Amino acid sequence: MNISIIGSGHVGLVTGACFAELGNKVVCVDNDEKKIRSLKRGKVPFYEPGLEELVRANYEQGRLSFTTSIREGIRDAEVVFICVGTPSLPSGEADLSAIEKVSREIGKNLNGYKVIVEKSTVPVKTGERVEKILKGTAKEGINFDVASNPEFLREGSAIKDFMHPDRVIIGVNSRKASSILLELYEPLNAPILITDIKSAELIKHASNAFLALKISFINAVANICDLAGADIKKVAKGIGLDKRIGESFLNAGIGYGGSCFPKDVSAFIHIAKELGYTFHLLEEVEKINRGQRVRVIEDLESFLGNLEGKTIGLLGLSFKPFTDDIRESPAIDLVNLLRERKAIIRAHDPVAIPNFSRIFPNLSYFEDPYKIAEGAHALVIVTDWPEYRYLNLKKLKNLMAYPLIVDGRNLLDPQRMKETGFYYSSIGRGKIR
Ligand code: NAD
Repeated sequence: MNISIIGSGHVGLVTGACFAELGNKVVCVDNDEKKIRSLKRGKVPFYEPGLEELVRANYEQGRLSFTTSIREGIRDAEVVFICVGTPSLPSGEADLSAIEKVSREIGKNLNGYKVIVEKSTVPVKTGERVEKILKGTAKEGINFDVASNPEFLREGSAIKDFMHPDRVIIGVNSRKASSILLELYEPLNAPILITDIKSAELIKHASNAFLALKISFINAVANICDLAGADIKKVAKGIGLDKRIGESFLNAGIGYGGSCFPKDVSAFIHIAKELGYTFHLLEEVEKINRGQRVRVIEDLESFLGNLEGKTIGLLGLSFKPFTDDIRESPAIDLVNLLRERKAIIRAHDPVAIPNFSRIFPNLSYFEDPYKIAEGAHALVIVTDWPEYRYLNLKKLKNLMAYPLIVDGRNLLDPQRMKETGFYYSSIGRGKIR
């Protein structure tokens, strides 16, 4: 099938490369000329395991191509996926300006029947807006269908998630669109749920909100564990063994971040309010999440007192491991909170330093985690990169001015920390003083 992808970022490029790998002919469009130039040279401008190889292979075999022109990109396409960003406006509302802009551009250049698919995460009823724009811009007599096909891939395991999804959601209001999308997704052999467009849009927001809720729930329970002297890892295990609850997303820590959960939770709260429902539950989810960042600072202060002039090393800058994406990363909040307290900040990350240093050019960055430990008063584990689990604790301790680790991801073993002579604080597993 001929496919066009508008917006060749984390979702668009993975979608394009995977559909090409499945034998389709895909044109990926982006208005970022630098990105398109780099893709044509076989370079993926962000870190996603396996993606560069997949892009290169499909580009070389002629199934994947790149352009900055929507007109050219959609000319032969039967299906057009809109994969542009939908960031938060200051009000928390989703910014749909990119969706609207590309919809107008698609409408103006429609040259025959196509299915226009929202793959970006959008508030319920965005499909209606897209359809109205397309109707207003397309030439008389040209037919199209709008569909919603939200994406559930996770950065860091995006290709695997795309190729082996738990489910594919197809929101359509027409049989024709439904059969085209069913044919396209058939090779994945995944469970497919066909719904109307509004339900599909809601499924995505509700899924992300529910996962964020699980994280905030376990973080709230972790805070009670600290007060009561219980162990959150055991509590989470005990809760998760109940099949109705499940074990995933019950890892207590510094709170969720990334390009999806924070913006999707606030967009969901906002659209619910617009429709006449105040989503107090999700407001509390956000509040608990913000509190987890502050909690880590309070932990530091409980050991070190005033943080002014103290050297704090951050282990991890990306919002999660195996990505260099730092959007809404907890590390950003920590840097701001530490700066307010006039601490000296050092930072390490295996891949995210270039992105982070664009926002904070004046921090001290180190390629070697042991370097940030030299003379430091504390290390904070911010991202659960596996390599932090295997740090040589003896070596670290000898390098530090004060042997304190605040483990924002519960990565290390408290018993081992005690034996090695560290001061140690984690989330919901007490403190070692
Ligand atoms: P991204 O910022 O990585 O990519 C968006 C791309 O769209 C960029 O390359 C940008 O240059 C391009 N773009 C913007 N305006 C354009 C225009 N007018 N014409 C052509 N291209 C344009 O964003 P992303 O992470 O891929 O997210 C895209 C959408 O998918 C969002 O709605 C997001 O919530 C959703 N989503 C993201 C993930 C994820 O893990 N990143 C997972 C599921 C869903």
